[in-house]
Parts: sequence; C-alpha cells; structure tokens
Amino acid sequence: MICEICPRHCDLAPGQTGFCRARTNIENKIICSNYGRITSLALDPIEKKPLSGFFPGKRILSVGSFGCNLRCPFCQNHEISMAGDEAQSVYMPPKTLLERASELVPQGNIGVAFTYNEPLISYEYLLDCAKLLKSQGLKVVLVTNGMICKEPLKRLLPYVDAMNIDLKGFTQEYYNFVGGDLGVVLETIELAAKSCHVEISTLIITGKNDSENEMRALSSWLASVDPEIPLHLQRFFPRYKMQDSYPTDTETMRRLRGIAAERLKYVYADNC
Ligand code: SF4
Repeated sequence: MICEICPRHCDLAPGQTGFCRARTNIENKIICSNYGRITSLALDPIEKKPLSGFFPGKRILSVGSFGCNLRCPFCQNHEISMAGDEAQSVYMPPKTLLERASELVPQGNIGVAFTYNEPLISYEYLLDCAKLLKSQGLKVVLVTNGMICKEPLKRLLPYVDAMNIDLKGFTQEYYNFVGGDLGVVLETIELAAKSCHVEISTLIITGKNDSENEMRALSSWLASVDPEIPLHLQRFFPRYKMQDSYPTDTETMRRLRGIAAERLKYVYADNC
C-alpha cells in the first residue's frame, strides 16, 4: 500500500512502518503511528518558531512527536526526529491538547504550534487537532520542512493560520544532501502563501548553500511569490553528524542578508 502523504510514497506491507518512522500500514490503512504521542511540550514566545509577523509578543503552546521524512545531518532535534516507536512520549489526544492550550490563554497563549519534529507526518493527528483548535478560536501554527504532497496539503490548509516553512537551500543538489525535493517544497510554499501567514527559514552552512548566487536565486523566487514573506537566515552550529564543521561566520550571514534584502522586505539574520 502506498503512503500518499509525502513524495517518498513508501510502499508498506501490513505492519510495516515508513521511512519517516511515524506512519504504519495497519490493516491495510496507513495512519500515523505517533498519533497523540507527544515527546516535547513548551509554552514558547511566538518569535521562537520563528514567526516575526504573526501575533508578535504573544506565546504559543508548542508540541512535537517523533519521526521525520528528511535526514538532515545537522538536525538540532535529532533525538526525536530520528527516533521511532521507542521514543518516550505521553499520550495527548486532541481534546486534551485543546484543554491544555485553553488553560494557557491567560498566560498569553494564542493556540498550538506543531513543531520540534516534522508535524506533517502526523497527518491524521494534525488534522483532528487543527479542526478542534480552530473551532474554539485558537490559532494553528506549523513549523515544517514543507515535504508534503499537494492533495493532503490542500485538505489541511483551511485549518492552518500560520506556517514557518524551511527552504533549506535552492538547488536540488542540496536537497539530495538532506533527502528532500526542492520542487515539492516550492509548491508547498506557493500554495500555503495563498491560504495563511507564511514565513521562511534557511539555515546557512559554509560551503553547502552559502553562495551569493544561490541566495540571489532563492530570494528572487520568494519575492516572485510575495516580497512581504519574511525570510529568517539562520547560522549553522556544529550538531548531530556535523560536529566537525565550523559555525557559519557572521560576515557571510550579513552579506547574504544584504543580498536577500534587495528583493524582500523582511530579512532577518539571527545572532549576527
Ligand atoms: S510520510 Fe512517511 S510513510 Fe508516508 S511517504 Fe513520507 S516517509 Fe513514507
């Protein structure tokens, strides 16, 4: 049976789990086996997602589970993103998540951000929660790598208020390095930008995706979608399988920020 959520299209026999380690063929139906299994929970400032133009100053209950459909060797959350069923978690059905989010409204909470690991692979949980949260006037935020097929994305978007989407680089060669598909991510950004508030994050790694030409191409394309979409350029720091690489230097970050700012209205380079 083929999983239709992301372009990997894993072909799963009964009982088999996909590449993301979070979707399983159970009795000839592929569903997320991490449904409601929360590994991380925190009330974060909305700016930490990062979202700069969506309810600034507010906070958002942020939740994550386990699994991912990419394999970035620099993942800062690899303990949960690369984990499967063995991950330690608490079970939190949609109704309980709604209750937790509602209790936190007096502390500045505006809703729930699905983040930390890739939320789109928890598709059924995400959809159930998003519908419930929206029905109670709470905001739904996704922090995602954007690797989702068009049809499931279209079904989800009416229940999403804001997304921060990783645009990890602007060449398929770089996307091969992380195990993704540039064209799919661009399509996700275009569709999402027509439906909800969108911001973009790009982690800059020396020698991998830090050329001026690549930033020119990335920012030109993003401006063609909407020059008001904020772009967050983030510095790489040694992590996971890339402990031996150097942090991206601040001069490169400032130079790339300047190039992107020629085309985009809001460009941020954190820690620079
Ligand atoms: S979401 Fe998971 S199971 Fe489905 S195609 Fe992608 S990697 Fe495979």
